[in-house]
Amino acid sequence: MKQEQYYPYYYKEFRCIADKCEDSCCAGWQIVVDDESARRYETVSGEIGETLRSVQCIDEDGDRVFQLREGNCPFWETSGLCAIHRQIGESYLCKTCREFPRTVQDYGAFAEYDLSLSCPEAARLILSGYCPGQEVVITEIPDEECGYDPDLMKFLRKARENLYDLVWNPAYSIAHVLSDCLLYAAQLQDCIDQEDWDTVPDYIPEPWEESLQAGTREGFFAAFEEMEILTEDWKPLLQAAKVLDDEPLPEELRIAMAGFDGGYRRMLHYYLSRYWLQTVADFDAIGRIKLMVTAFLMLRRMQAACMQKEKELPESASVRLVQLYSKEVEHNALNREILEEAFFTDMSFSIEQLIALLRQW
Ligand code: SF4
Repeated sequence: MKQEQYYPYYYKEFRCIADKCEDSCCAGWQIVVDDESARRYETVSGEIGETLRSVQCIDEDGDRVFQLREGNCPFWETSGLCAIHRQIGESYLCKTCREFPRTVQDYGAFAEYDLSLSCPEAARLILSGYCPGQEVVITEIPDEECGYDPDLMKFLRKARENLYDLVWNPAYSIAHVLSDCLLYAAQLQDCIDQEDWDTVPDYIPEPWEESLQAGTREGFFAAFEEMEILTEDWKPLLQAAKVLDDEPLPEELRIAMAGFDGGYRRMLHYYLSRYWLQTVADFDAIGRIKLMVTAFLMLRRMQAACMQKEKELPESASVRLVQLYSKEVEHNALNREILEEAFFTDMSFSIEQLIALLRQW
C-alpha cells in the first residue's frame, strides 16, 4: 500500500550539536535499550563491551535500560560526547539514541514526522522558523489494517485545519486563541461522544476580555509539584512561577513578553501536529487541547517571573523555557500521566478554570 509521509520544513535541517549542547539528551534521562542493540552489545569486545553489558538493568516498568550514573547516562562523557559513539561508532547507538529527537506518528495510510521540542537544537528550529509548511513523500509500505475509524480520522484532520487557522489568527492574542480552542474542542468532543463525525462544526468566535477574576491556581501548581524533576534549573523556575503575585504585569513587560508570541504560536502548532490526531485512539479531544493550554499557562508564568527579575528576556531564554518544559513534562511519561490524570480529576483543570487563568495571566 502507499503511505503519505509528512515532514515539517525544518525536519531535514536538524543536526545534533553534541558537545555544544546545553542540555544533552544523555543528561537526566534513562535510556531504554532495544532488543536488537542488546544482542549486538553481547558481541562487542574490550572494555567498552564489558561496560555495555554491565550497566544494563531492568527498570520498574520492565524495560531494559542503561543504569544512570549520578543521574546521567553512564556513557555520557564530561566533554559532552557519547563514549559509544566516540569509541565504536554511531551504528552501535541503541534505537532511542539513534532516532532522538526524531519522532513519527504512523497512522498506516499516512505518517507524520517531527522533531521533539525537548532537544535544545530542535527547539530552536521549531520555534524560530518562518512559518509552518510540510514536505510530502509517497512511499510503498506492506499492507496493514489501520486499526481506527477512517471517518473519525477524516473528521479530526479537518478539525485540525480549523484549529491551525485559529492558532495563526493574528487578530487574537495567544490567550484568546487558547480560550477559543478549548471551547471549540468541547464542541468537537460532543460530536465525537455521539459518534457524529460526518461534518465538522464550524468554529464560532467567542467574545474575549481579560479579567482579574481569580482562577484556582493552587490545584494548577499542585499537579506540577507532584512531578519528578530531571533538570536542576526546573525547580527554581517552578517556585518563581508559583510565588509570582497576581497583580497585572507592568505594561512594558507585557509588551516585551508579546515579542515571543510567534514562538508560542509555533509551539501550539507543534502540539496540535504532534498530539491532536491521537484522539482517534482514545476519543479525548479536550485532553489534547488542555495539554497545550497548560504548557502555555506555565511557560507564560515562568517567562513573567524571569522578566520581573531580569527586566528583559532574550528570545533564546524563552526558547530554553519551552524546551525545558517539554523535557520535564511533555516528554516525560510519568509527568504526563500526572498531568493527564489531573485533567480528569482536578477541577482546577476544568475548561472554565483554565479560561479564567488565561484571562487573568
Ligand atoms: S539534546 Fe539534541 S542536540 Fe543535544 S545532544 Fe541530544 S540530540 Fe544532540
